[in-house]
Amino acid sequence: MEPYDLLVIGGGPAGLSAAVNGRRRNKRVLLVGKETVSNKLRQAHRVDNYLGLPEISGVELAAKYRKHAVAEGVDLLEDEIQNLWAEEDVFQAMGKTQLYVAKTVIMATGTPQKVSLPGEEELAGKGVSYCATCDGMFFRGKKVFVLSELEEGEKEANFLADLCTEVYYLPRYQGEYKGLDPRIKVVSGRVLRLLGEEKLTGVETSTGRYEVDGVFIERVSLPLDRLLPDLALENGFIQVDRRQRTNVPGVFAAGDCTGKPWQIAKAVGEGLVAALSAVDYLANRA
Ligand SMILES: Cc1cc2nc3c(=O)[nH]c(=O)nc-3n(C[C@H](O)[C@H](O)[C@H](O)COP(=O)(O)OP(=O)(O)OC[C@H]3O[C@@H](n4cnc5c(N)ncnc54)[C@H](O)[C@@H]3O)c2cc1C
Repeated sequence: MEPYDLLVIGGGPAGLSAAVNGRRRNKRVLLVGKETVSNKLRQAHRVDNYLGLPEISGVELAAKYRKHAVAEGVDLLEDEIQNLWAEEDVFQAMGKTQLYVAKTVIMATGTPQKVSLPGEEELAGKGVSYCATCDGMFFRGKKVFVLSELEEGEKEANFLADLCTEVYYLPRYQGEYKGLDPRIKVVSGRVLRLLGEEKLTGVETSTGRYEVDGVFIERVSLPLDRLLPDLALENGFIQVDRRQRTNVPGVFAAGDCTGKPWQIAKAVGEGLVAALSAVDYLANRA
């Protein structure tokens, strides 16, 4: 299939603004977002500082943004990008279920996830994974532990319950866990460290120790350096210039992921600039 001109990662104000402005320049735009529209925006009870729309709620604004993007012809998909890399003259982005191909990428992933558990970095790929549907088969017949900040983690755990001999589930959100497979053991407390040197051997939590072969971590967002390892960061945020260009040619970034202020107007403005820079980049490489 023909690559998209722009792949936008993240469906918040920054990503939706970039996508709409990419379409206004007649580019083929795909937006892949973990949620259809950012949960963070929806959490804003009342937004009073967004020009021209005082007293609007985050939910209302989210609905308007989405409607606008759909009307402009943005292709919107719900998925989480796990990995991004350049191959020849395009970018390939691996979601949980599908591979996406585009000529440029705009990262609009929201406030970056900086927190790493002790042992996580060292054991990533050696028993620590961020996607059950991608890596679950490696743990067939083994014991695994799922740490989830999101209800979506329940689906991941259920998938693993069909493959693994034992699945522990530690939810870090409020919920009733009604959708969980009855074979899954719900664990309380918080994770203190991941154990093992060459490979993961277990998990230590505030309530006990679990000997497992794999840990799946379901977070609000992946650490940025896991997504695109060459990306230059500054204090954990994506380093950009005034045209929202990152250090990777063809990759742009906008919104909370580039630093403070974490505000809607800044995200929308940066999304616009990122889209225009991507359009310039496409024109110069043609
Ligand atoms: C309670 C609350 C109240 C607020 N009130 C205000 C206010 O009054 N005024 C104001 O200006 N701002 C307010 N904000 C801040 C505002 O919501 C954010 O600044 C804004 O949403 C940032 O937009 P963004 O697009 O950069 O990121 P986000 O809105 O965080 O969107 C990023 C999206 O990218 C997705 N994503 C991340 N990684 C991936 C991946 N690998 N693959 C696919 N998708 C991914 C995330 O799941 C998310 O949906 C408030 C925030 C909160 C929480």
